[in-house]
Amino acid sequence: MDAAPVHDIFVIGGGINGCGIARDAVGRGYSVFLAEMNDLASGTSSGSTKLIHGGLRYLEFYEFRLVREALMEREVLWRNAPHIIWPMRFVLPYFAGGPRPAWMLRLGLFLYDHIGGRKALPATRTLDMKRDVAGKPLKPIFSKAFEYSDGWVNDARLVVLNARDAADRGAVIRTRTRVVAARRDNDIWTITIEDLRSRAIETVQARLLVNAAGPWVDHVLSETVGKNDVHNVRLVQGSHIVVRKKFDDPRAYFFQNKDGRIIFAIPYEDEFTLIGTTDRDFTGDPHDVKISDGEIDYLCDAASEYFAQPVLRDDIVWTYSAVRPLYDDGASKAQEATRDYVLKAEGGAGLAPLVNAFGGKITTYRRLAESMIEKIEEFLGKRGPSWTVSAPLPGGDFPATGYEAEVTRLKQAYAFLDPRLARRLVRLYGTRAHALLGPARSIADLGQDFGGDLYEAEVRYLVEHEWAETAQDILWRRTKRGLHFDRKQTAELEAFLRRICGPHIAAAE
Ligand SMILES: Cc1cc2nc3c(=O)[nH]c(=O)nc-3n(C[C@H](O)[C@H](O)[C@H](O)COP(=O)(O)OP(=O)(O)OC[C@H]3O[C@@H](n4cnc5c(N)ncnc54)[C@H](O)[C@@H]3O)c2cc1C
Repeated sequence: MDAAPVHDIFVIGGGINGCGIARDAVGRGYSVFLAEMNDLASGTSSGSTKLIHGGLRYLEFYEFRLVREALMEREVLWRNAPHIIWPMRFVLPYFAGGPRPAWMLRLGLFLYDHIGGRKALPATRTLDMKRDVAGKPLKPIFSKAFEYSDGWVNDARLVVLNARDAADRGAVIRTRTRVVAARRDNDIWTITIEDLRSRAIETVQARLLVNAAGPWVDHVLSETVGKNDVHNVRLVQGSHIVVRKKFDDPRAYFFQNKDGRIIFAIPYEDEFTLIGTTDRDFTGDPHDVKISDGEIDYLCDAASEYFAQPVLRDDIVWTYSAVRPLYDDGASKAQEATRDYVLKAEGGAGLAPLVNAFGGKITTYRRLAESMIEKIEEFLGKRGPSWTVSAPLPGGDFPATGYEAEVTRLKQAYAFLDPRLARRLVRLYGTRAHALLGPARSIADLGQDFGGDLYEAEVRYLVEHEWAETAQDILWRRTKRGLHFDRKQTAELEAFLRRICGPHIAAAE
C-alpha cells in the first residue's frame, strides 16, 4: 500500500483568509490540504458589512498603508469576480455642527480618491441634497453630501469561490472537519482531524502549518498546538440589522453618529436595507455571537437620526453578528484597534514551520495570501510566480462591466427563465449559471420547487460543487434565500438535503 502523502501546506480555517491562501498556494504548485470545522465562511467571513473598501474612517487612525492597499484591491477584485463584486456609490450627508467638519471630510475623500490607484471607479462629487433623490428618504435637515466610490461583495460566496478554484487546481478541501491536534515531529507536522459528521479521526502530515482560524486563532495556538500564554487577537463583535427597504436608490449611505462612530445603510438583496455595524469587545465562543438588545436599539436610533421615517424594531426582518479577530495593538477603544493584518512565522532549521495570520479584512484577503506565500517561500522554497492579480474566480470570466450582457446571454440560452431568476443566478454563479442549469428546457426541468425562487437544480449544484450540506449553508451563505423562506419551506429543504447528502450535523449552528 502507498504511504499517505506528506502535503506541503496544511491550512486550518475555511474563511476568506484560509481559502484565499489555499488557492494562491496550490496555483503556485504547492500541495495543499485545508480543514474547516463547520461550513465554509461560517465564521466571520459571512458576517461582514460586505464592502470592498479602503475604509474611509481608518484614515482618522493614520492607517495609510492599509487604506492604500485596500483601495488598490477594489478594482482588482471587481475585475476578477464581477458577478459577486460591483462598484457602489456612497452618500455621506454632512451638516454644520456634525462630528467632523466639511474640510476634514473633503480632505479625507481627496486622499481616498488619489492614494489608491483608482482608474475605473468614479471620483467623489458634492450633492445638493435638496435636489438629489438621495435627499428624499432623509430628514430635510441635510442640504449637502459627498458622494464617493467603494465596492460591494457577496462575502460568503467570495470564500466558496476561492475554495472551488483551489479544489479545481488540486487542493484538498475538507469541511465539517475540525483540527483537534497538531504535533511537530522534527520537520513534519502530524495533524489530527475529526470528521464532525462521522466522528472519524484521521491524521494528515504536512511540511508547514498555516493557522488561519480567524477569531479562533489564539484558541488553535493554545489548544491545538499546545502553546502557553497566547494573546494575539482582540475579539470585537459587530452586528447588523436588515429591514424592508428604506429607499429605492442604488446608492448606499454613510452616516456619522453623535458618538463619532459611523454606520452604513446599504441596498440589500433588492427588497431590503442593511444597517450596521456596531463595535464592542467580545468574550466567549465566536460561534455563539448574537446581536444584543442594546445593539438593536443603537442601530435603530442611529439610522433614525437620518431617515425621515424612523427605523423601528418591528421593521427588522433579520439580524446577524460576527466577531472581528483584530490584531491586538493595545488600542483602548474597539473601533480604534488596527484593521491591518499581521503574519507571524516560527520554526525552520529542523523545526516544522507554523505561520499564523492575525486580523485582516475581506478586501485585503488576496494581498494577505500573497504575503503569506512570501513567508512560505522562506521555508519551502519558491515555486510558481504570483498569479491571482489577473485570474478570474469561478464564474467571473466576463468583463467587469458585463453583468447585463451575461444576463442577456443566460436568458437567450434559457428562454423559460423568469428575468428575476436569471439576474439572481448570474449574480451568484456568473458564467457557471449555464452549468447549473445544464440541459433544462423548461422550469419543470429544474426539479422540485422549494419556494422563494429556489429549485432542486440549484440545490444539487450547491451540494455537488460548493460543499453545501444543510439548509443553513444554502439559505444563508451560498444564497440569501433565507430572507424569503418560512419554517415549513426550510424543513422541506432540510429533509431533501438529508435524503441526498445522508445524515449530517449542522455543527455549532
Ligand atoms: C461586523 C463585521 C463587519 C466587517 N465588515 C467588513 C467589510 O465590510 N469589508 C471588509 O473588507 N472586511 C470586513 N470585516 C472583516 C472581515 O470580515 C474579516 O477580517 C474576515 O472575514 C476574517 O476572515 P478569516 O478567514 O480570518 O476568519 P473566519 O471567516 O472566521 O474563518 C476562520 C475559520 O476557521 C475555522 N476554524 C477555527 N478553528 C478551527 C479548527 N480547529 N479546525 C478547523 N477549522 C477551524 C472557523 O470555523 C472559521 O470558519 C468585517 C468583520 C466584521 C466582524
